[in-house]
Amino acid sequence: MSVVVVIELQDGAIVPMSWEALVAGGTAADALGESLIAVALGSDLTAIEAQLSAKPVSEVVLLEHPLLERYTADGYVAALASAFAELKPKLALFPHTYQVRDFGPKLAARMGRAFVSDAVGLGVEDGRPVFVRQMFQGKFQADVTVEGEGTVFASIQSGSFRADVLVDGPASPLRRLDVALSADQIRTKPLERFRETAGAVDLSSAERIVSVGRGIKDPENLPLVEKLAAALGAEVAASRPICDNGWLPLERQVGSSGQTVAPKLYLALGISGAIQHVVGMKGSKTIVAVNKDASAPIFEIADYGIVGDLFEVAPALIEALERSS
Ligand SMILES: Cc1cc2nc3c(=O)[nH]c(=O)nc-3n(C[C@H](O)[C@H](O)[C@H](O)COP(=O)(O)OP(=O)(O)OC[C@H]3O[C@@H](n4cnc5c(N)ncnc54)[C@H](O)[C@@H]3O)c2cc1C
Repeated sequence: MSVVVVIELQDGAIVPMSWEALVAGGTAADALGESLIAVALGSDLTAIEAQLSAKPVSEVVLLEHPLLERYTADGYVAALASAFAELKPKLALFPHTYQVRDFGPKLAARMGRAFVSDAVGLGVEDGRPVFVRQMFQGKFQADVTVEGEGTVFASIQSGSFRADVLVDGPASPLRRLDVALSADQIRTKPLERFRETAGAVDLSSAERIVSVGRGIKDPENLPLVEKLAAALGAEVAASRPICDNGWLPLERQVGSSGQTVAPKLYLALGISGAIQHVVGMKGSKTIVAVNKDASAPIFEIADYGIVGDLFEVAPALIEALERSS
């Protein structure tokens, strides 16, 4: 038995979130007393062999086939289902990427198993993996276990495990498994991969950011945030609902489906601190949060927290900044 971590590639390069899933897998493998196997799929994986086998894994397993050159859910599910029939993993982990969201549950269903998506933590109790999942916008955390015999499938949310603890070492053994795939098994034809347009604003290089969330209530109130940003010499950013509503352009969204930022100052106004937002800004040097709910999760990562109404705090900050300039 083993713990398998499926490594994702984009344009031949390993997607960094895969390393976080590998760290999660290593933790689980140690606690379960199982070996750790990294699995990658593609048409020719020679270029990433050395990079993968340097990681602290028991084994690297490569699934190569011309039909795996471009991602398709059918191809990935067929290849992984046959590999898993041979490897019989106790636990199979994936990075929680868009691609995994597409094929992961299908793979689990093919094998008659459930799929625990978007886990932010992973432990082991009584020899069984226990996942932590966020509920109600991060207000609660639920421990989740999977019933029954067979592989337990789960995806790991970005930022939940630190990839920088992975240290390269001596090369681990590497093997290729036969992949039986035929074109008629694949019912979709991949076209060009969607690329987001290069944003006019590069939030990733901003030194100061004033970020606004649903606490702003109405787009008519945004000038208050813009005024505070101007007073601080900061860029304006937002949580996803603000951009989804079209109140600010998409390129200003911070989080797992937006930009990742690491400014010296991140001032979060009326943002609850959902994991998908936090993963995009937790690398900020100083985080200041203004929220009227003292139990908002954003305060867990804030260096300075103001429990209060942003419509009172922001004007007071603007006034103080204008007075001091
Ligand atoms: C696949 C997926 C990807 C996602 N990607 C992202 C992403 O990239 N970025 C992102 O941000 N989210 C993302 N989300 C959404 C995320 O889960 C949260 O829903 C979102 O971050 C919540 O935004 P919010 O904090 O602005 O709103 P809410 O969660 O509604 O929080 C509003 C906060 O404002 C506070 N508030 C209200 N009024 C005031 C006031 N007058 N003064 C002060 N505080 C006040 C409230 O107490 C509350 O904490 C994603 C979700 C999914 C499922």
